[in-house]
Amino acid sequence: MRLSKTFIKTLREAPKDEIARNGALLSRAGYIHKELAGIYDYLPLGVLVLEKIKHIIREELNAIDCEEVQMSALQNPEPWEATGRFSDQEVDIWFKTELASGGLLGLAPTHEEPMVNMMKTYVSSYKDLPVYVYQFQTKFRNELRAKSGIMRGREFLMKDLYSFHTSEKDLDDFYSKVEGAYAKIFERLGLGDSTYETFASGGIFSKFSHEYQTILPVGEDTIYYNKDKSLVFNKEVFNDEVLAEFGATKSDFEEAKAAEVGNIFKLKFKYSEPLGLKYTDESNQAQVVYMGCYGIGVSRVMGVIAERFADDKGLVWPEAVAPFKYYLVGIGEKGMDAAAKLYTGHENEILFDDRNARPGEKFADADLMGMPYRIVISDKTLDQDALELTDRKTGESKLIKLVDFRLD
Ligand code: ATP
Ligand code: MG
Repeated sequence: MRLSKTFIKTLREAPKDEIARNGALLSRAGYIHKELAGIYDYLPLGVLVLEKIKHIIREELNAIDCEEVQMSALQNPEPWEATGRFSDQEVDIWFKTELASGGLLGLAPTHEEPMVNMMKTYVSSYKDLPVYVYQFQTKFRNELRAKSGIMRGREFLMKDLYSFHTSEKDLDDFYSKVEGAYAKIFERLGLGDSTYETFASGGIFSKFSHEYQTILPVGEDTIYYNKDKSLVFNKEVFNDEVLAEFGATKSDFEEAKAAEVGNIFKLKFKYSEPLGLKYTDESNQAQVVYMGCYGIGVSRVMGVIAERFADDKGLVWPEAVAPFKYYLVGIGEKGMDAAAKLYTGHENEILFDDRNARPGEKFADADLMGMPYRIVISDKTLDQDALELTDRKTGESKLIKLVDFRLD
């Protein structure tokens, strides 16, 4: 991408009402544009980050045999009425709208009901199971407070996976596979050393579900971890009774702020029973389908990564999710020509600052936008037949001979 050709611009000021650092930095650096509190547009650089996050999730889920679908955002109230969740008393974050021909529709805050309802068309025998289906989908939630930038959207991108099984054992085995996939996903996203699988409430068999919590000072959640971080609880379940089950006491734990980047549930029959998702077993008996669900907040992950690694100069992307690996600056006529040569054929790896701007301005934007490496080619570096490569994270620079430099 050539900076002179894109419509995006870095901004001196963040939107006035943007109090979250991720929202402010991502706005200033040209990744997002704020419409309203909790409602954001994603600009070309922002879309690239979301796509990289999705790619990592997709690879790891496909590796455990999950299939990708795309469900509708507009919701038929019927299946939601069957579980009691269309009621605003039960679920207080609905956005609802109306058909021109009359009748209510919902904008999906999640997809258990339509997913189970859809499966009734395709699952009828034990031979049809198991099924593992996921999507990347915009969810709509009328969140009361949306002050955390893209970490809490009223419209946001979620990856939601649903699994369907004939037995508890099969659900357990798949649940473990998802735990393995999630560990790899957060590792690849650069959050491996700060993200913990925590015990949370809401499990159906065992009393627990699990959350994935990334340690973050501005996180909205509180977690408690023991010395070697082998036991981590969220606030809801951190009490004497639960701790006793694990042979622990409160004094073994430290508190930290964290952001929930994902969660996983063994739902058992919670949705399949009221919606009547059944299969016939080998002896021709009707049985209710076992179910699990597994979420990751894709746009929240982007905000968490932005918050976690940013410094006083701007964003710092881990290589795996950076829109481009390199930010290329040409200085002077010869420098610009040599930079253009390096850029050609590497349009997907390099963001080329080919603007007619002062070097200081280019360097400031390079820091703000946060690509992992900055390359500078100037008359000075060319005197030594070299370019200068700077690591955004450490700030370390080195001169590398042009003939020795490989983009990889
Ligand atoms: P929270 O407690 O933060 O509101 P939740 O329990 O409502 O989260 P789920 O319904 O389980 O979340 O959604 C799955 C994932 O989607 C969450 O783990 C989180 O990463 C993400 N998520 C939830 N709400 C939002 C939101 N308003 N904006 C962005 N991401 C969200
Ligand atoms: Mg919520």
